[in-house]
Amino acid sequence: MAEYTDLDGAVNDVPELSDSEDEEQWMEEDDPDHSDESVPCLFCNRSISSVSETFRHCQADHGFNVADLVRKHRLDDYGYIKMINYIRTTKCSMETLVSCSGDALPWSSDEYMKPVLPDDPLLQIDVEELTGDASACDDVSVWMQRAQRAEENLSRAMDDLHKLKVFVQGLVLNSDGTQKSAGSVAELREDEDEAYFSSYGHYSIHEEMLKDKVRTESYRDFMYGNTEVFKDKVVLDVGCGTGILSMFAARSGAKQVIGVDQSEIIYHAMDIVRANNLESVITLIKGRIEEVDLPVEKVDVIISEWMGYFLLFESMLDSVIFARDRYLADGGSVYPDRCSISLAAVGDTEKHDGRVAFWDDVYGFKMPCMKKAVIPEAVVEVLQPETVISEPTVIQMLDCNSVSLSGLEFTSDFILKITVNTQCTALVGYFDVFFDRGCANKVMFSTAPHCTKTHWKQTVFLLENPITVQSGEELPGQITVRKNKKDPRALIVTLTIRDWRQTYSVQ
Ligand code: SAH
Repeated sequence: MAEYTDLDGAVNDVPELSDSEDEEQWMEEDDPDHSDESVPCLFCNRSISSVSETFRHCQADHGFNVADLVRKHRLDDYGYIKMINYIRTTKCSMETLVSCSGDALPWSSDEYMKPVLPDDPLLQIDVEELTGDASACDDVSVWMQRAQRAEENLSRAMDDLHKLKVFVQGLVLNSDGTQKSAGSVAELREDEDEAYFSSYGHYSIHEEMLKDKVRTESYRDFMYGNTEVFKDKVVLDVGCGTGILSMFAARSGAKQVIGVDQSEIIYHAMDIVRANNLESVITLIKGRIEEVDLPVEKVDVIISEWMGYFLLFESMLDSVIFARDRYLADGGSVYPDRCSISLAAVGDTEKHDGRVAFWDDVYGFKMPCMKKAVIPEAVVEVLQPETVISEPTVIQMLDCNSVSLSGLEFTSDFILKITVNTQCTALVGYFDVFFDRGCANKVMFSTAPHCTKTHWKQTVFLLENPITVQSGEELPGQITVRKNKKDPRALIVTLTIRDWRQTYSVQ
């Protein structure tokens, strides 16, 4: 945890906030919240009936004036709490307390934030109560001073927050400076993931997916062509959307299909299932797969269409892995069962000029910073297959039946075998999907540039400066794929080619 900024040194010229009359007034006030309690004294074994009585006793018998100390050290709530815990921990004398001054208060450590006594009534008061009653502060200058102090407190809090952020960032960095895992989307709070699910609430995204024939027909052909995988089985459809995969599974002979989706589209799915008289087989549940209670303990088959741009964007595979580990019966299968991610080199000088060199001369002005902004954003677009200038190389294979979350972030060395004498201006990434396991009729589809285009298109990583390459040359590189720790649904991709290195976001 971050150290809190020392309060005494940081605040200059804060005048006294109340006069002794106010203090008296506070001392005289009833202390209704704490009057029934027994409050252990800070310095002796006595327990006293209320907080105000305790402080009165501390002042009369031990010479301890809490308001004086709070003012002297300009303690805020945290400083006050730490002081009380420090006194209770160390059982220090009044002399020690009085002699404290300057920056190094002995209670500045955060260890003193921990209460020494459970429910210590002395910790349940507002420091402002100690230094004066707000109603006594009619004087505008006093209000101004208070406002100034509040601003200073806020600035210190921001400072602390910044330190905490730096500290936490340090925690997620390995000693070699590389990022550790950003965690699973299962850990996202509902409000953090709201935008994601509301994007799936609208019909248009489902229309686009359903009209993507390469995608939807592959699922259909796999299920209709391998009915033995589904016959009399219990099937879980993770992220059922309109229910299309659940209905394919039902038509393939599944005994029971459970479709789960957190987005509002599931209400349409309920109507769709009824419209097709499949409600006796398909049960639909609204909610996150990580949170819902399924009506069964285990399922035989999990189907899901979880793939995002560059395969892993959206991180929905996290949720399928969760479902697999929680619900899949021994011997059960997840489909699709295998996926690969591939890279190839691209030579498209015209497009590179249009996107990158363009910023060198914009109506006679150079805009180098714009170039710097363009490069790190991977572009999702359909690539002209004739611009591919190397053989493809697989950089990662995923087995959906065994992969763990850590396998979704990886580093891979690759070699691109160049097939044309030209300039390499970018790399292209895409993925292939396989329905293989136990299937008499295996099905696969590819999102490669030379295949029928899909709604996933391809993902293009522009090079800042084109590289001259020769046919037959082997261009070595390395790729690292990580979740963005600020948004585990987004990806950070780092490419190293020859001695040039660039980090991209896929979002
Ligand atoms: N299966 C449908 C929809 C696929 S799109 C089809 O093939 O057409 C992915 C769907 O998964 C979206 O509707 C999204 O809301 C849902 N989804 C993603 N993560 C989820 C989770 N953790 N829990 C429940 N639903 C999820």
